[in-house]
Amino acid sequence: MVLDWGAKPAAQATPVEAGKLTPVYVDGRLIAFTDKPEDLIAFLKEKRPEISPEVNFTYNREEDAVYINADAGRMRRPLIPVDKIEEAIKLLPEIEAGNISFSDLVRMGIVELLDVDEEEYAVIAYSLSELNEKHTHLDFTPYAMFGVAASQIPYAEHNNIPRDIIGANMVRQGLGEYVANWRLRFDSRAFLMFYPQRPIVRTRGSEITGYDYRPSGQNLVVALIPMDGYNMDDALVMSRGAIDRGAARAVFFRTYETEAKRQAIIEGDRFENPLPLKKVSGKKEEQYYQKLGEDGIVDPETYVEGGDVLIGKTSPPRFSPELSIGGGYQYTFERRDTSISMRAWERGVVTDVLLATKTGGEKLVRVKVRDTRPPELGDKFATRHGQKGVLGMIYRQEDMPFTSDGIVPDIVLDPHAIPSRMTIGQLYEILAGKVGALEGRFIDGTPFMSEPVEDLMEALKKLGFEYSGEEIMYDGRTGRMIKAPIFIGISYYQRLKHMVRDKIHARARGQMQLLTRQPVEGRARGGGLRLGEMEGEVLISHGAASVIRDRYVEQSDKTIVYVCKNCGTIAFFNQRTNEFFCPRCQSSVEVKPLITSHASKLFVDELMSGHVDVRLDVREEV
Ligand SMILES: [Zn+2]
Repeated sequence: MVLDWGAKPAAQATPVEAGKLTPVYVDGRLIAFTDKPEDLIAFLKEKRPEISPEVNFTYNREEDAVYINADAGRMRRPLIPVDKIEEAIKLLPEIEAGNISFSDLVRMGIVELLDVDEEEYAVIAYSLSELNEKHTHLDFTPYAMFGVAASQIPYAEHNNIPRDIIGANMVRQGLGEYVANWRLRFDSRAFLMFYPQRPIVRTRGSEITGYDYRPSGQNLVVALIPMDGYNMDDALVMSRGAIDRGAARAVFFRTYETEAKRQAIIEGDRFENPLPLKKVSGKKEEQYYQKLGEDGIVDPETYVEGGDVLIGKTSPPRFSPELSIGGGYQYTFERRDTSISMRAWERGVVTDVLLATKTGGEKLVRVKVRDTRPPELGDKFATRHGQKGVLGMIYRQEDMPFTSDGIVPDIVLDPHAIPSRMTIGQLYEILAGKVGALEGRFIDGTPFMSEPVEDLMEALKKLGFEYSGEEIMYDGRTGRMIKAPIFIGISYYQRLKHMVRDKIHARARGQMQLLTRQPVEGRARGGGLRLGEMEGEVLISHGAASVIRDRYVEQSDKTIVYVCKNCGTIAFFNQRTNEFFCPRCQSSVEVKPLITSHASKLFVDELMSGHVDVRLDVREEV
């Protein structure tokens, strides 16, 4: 169509023309040149009904290029072109009656879908009242600018934008009922909240996205008080009573899975308890096999913890040599233990065991383990306003502060968490939540079109409360009045998936890397906690030489190398003659023992492998 209109095909253009004319790209491929890009766009726009609403065209003035996009996977945004607004208003009753669908509107050209290229040159109005002659498009509603996660945030327009972004990111991490058929599924990892609630302060976005029907949080009573320092620096104090009543309680599922592979000539994998079998190599200690049933698989409702074997399995011997611990190769003729065990730091109760046969005939076993997770110190929580924090202390209900009505907060937040974040929306939500709970209704907190906060404050006053949301509170331990009015209300809190139980880690001794002889990395392998470059610098600045030596050498990759006194190369120990042999001097030599890190020795070796001569200048100690 572009060529029919009169653009010059790319193959026919001379280099001079190519330099002067505007290139036309279709899905990123150069197909033609034109000298009238604006006219081409106007022509294509006119022909849009004939082409497809799926195609977007842009003349990029900065690059002087025409882009025509028709490929899949482009993010596009529905908008009403200004010249179609009147038509759209006329159709409103029809749309409301359900006679015209959204795709009808797209087909009629009343709704245009702009891709990122086209959006760049659109001037979008958010309401009819602000519309002027510069605008090219009108959005349906102001909150349409938000995505799925961001549209859950009530009073978002009152927040500092970075906080809304943080809040939107954490809405995705909140625990809830992630699917309705979780009971039947074998997800490799899954969290489920016990009592998710619809937020009292809701948005139209939460209705449209279906969040109201699958929420991921609870409406909790919050008070803003510094609590003995246990909620400083974004920590959170929670009431034991609230936790015991089921607040933020969740369960964690993990599926362990393995299949019995079949082999051509010999017998393949077998599900069985390897413990009583004599000719099986690589078995663990006896205690780990105690939970297995007759069939070599754990029974449902068995308590299991770190290291316990869940699925007993043996595999045929490998007919290839294996590197043995003492050095040299070794052939194994015994069957091997290839059982699946619990992860080292986890625990739980077996919920489901699935036995199945795959289409190829391989047997498959899946074991789902559940672990109930009541909130514990260090677990992460967040509101929808990016006010995140970890649980710093759990107070007994009777030690928590209370109001004259006897209301005890579920969560106590430090007021210092508010001013620097400028999350005014959070304060509005607490206030609105309070009104909603007292009046027994949901409050609309949709950004740009929410219930005015002034009305909510007025409502609080009518309900017999302070219009500011503040109340006089009493210390639970002493019974004394707190000498300041306390801001208390209800906020929607999410329990996030990051829990201490999954992150806690310590190491004394453990696995070492083969190459560097330093501790291995990672929690799953029981790895070391790295004392990095920056931490080392701190120790240097304190002059803590012994600590540095202990961390970097003694507790890490300490080695002794024997350096030839003659020439300074690293000598070998000859066990037969009980002497040191220098590869450079080609004779037995006197050596000087040198304590270093194995990494240094490795570095010397690597330099030598790169044809760099390395001599160590060792002298007698002073
Ligand atoms: Zn030598």
